[in-house]
Amino acid sequence: MPANPFQTACLQLSASQLRQLPEDIGSEVAFAGRSNAGKSSALNAICAQHGLARTSKTPGRTQLLNVFALDDGRRLIDLPGYGYAKVPEDMRAHWRKLIDAYLRDRESLRGVVLIMDCRHPLKDFDRQMLTYCTDIELPCLLLLTKADKLSRSEGAKTLAAVRKECASLGWTSHMQLFSAQAKTGVDQARTALDALLNG
Ligand code: GDP
Repeated sequence: MPANPFQTACLQLSASQLRQLPEDIGSEVAFAGRSNAGKSSALNAICAQHGLARTSKTPGRTQLLNVFALDDGRRLIDLPGYGYAKVPEDMRAHWRKLIDAYLRDRESLRGVVLIMDCRHPLKDFDRQMLTYCTDIELPCLLLLTKADKLSRSEGAKTLAAVRKECASLGWTSHMQLFSAQAKTGVDQARTALDALLNG
């Protein structure tokens, strides 16, 4: 793998409908997470670009599927943060449907990166996503982010507990600690993401 194959990522388009997405060829991986989990920061850290994915504080773009083009017909898709507080219920229902359809029907989708705040792992949304990915046999990479907020031993304990719970529920995701701030686990995440895209 070259030093960082994600460094060339650039925003290709933002879609509010599935038909606006690029042609369904090549390979892509979608980033999902509850809003404020640290998804944009994780994308920015992985791509080593400060302002690539906008953080939760910029509502406009966070409610779209943002498509970041890589090399060789590969893409990263930033899904809308789940549970964004200022979105009315009917709009949420629309997004839920859209994301379900995207996950189910997108041929080029190779996997999902699920971002969870390591201090609040496996909330309802995360469980639904893991169940869904398992049902449709879509690989899922779990990044337990904001690991800098925990001590080393707390981090290890959290990882072990999440791993155990996932195993007991039949979810076979790869998982690791991550910190966009301290840059912990970023190289590992790039390697895992590259493998997903090539899978
Ligand atoms: P998103 O809504 O999931 O895209 O989350 P953001 O990336 O916007 O992050 C939400 C908040 O968490 C922001 O205040 C970030 O600065 C903070 N944050 C994100 N990643 C980290 C991290 O690795 N460590 C720490 N300490 N804070 C983080």
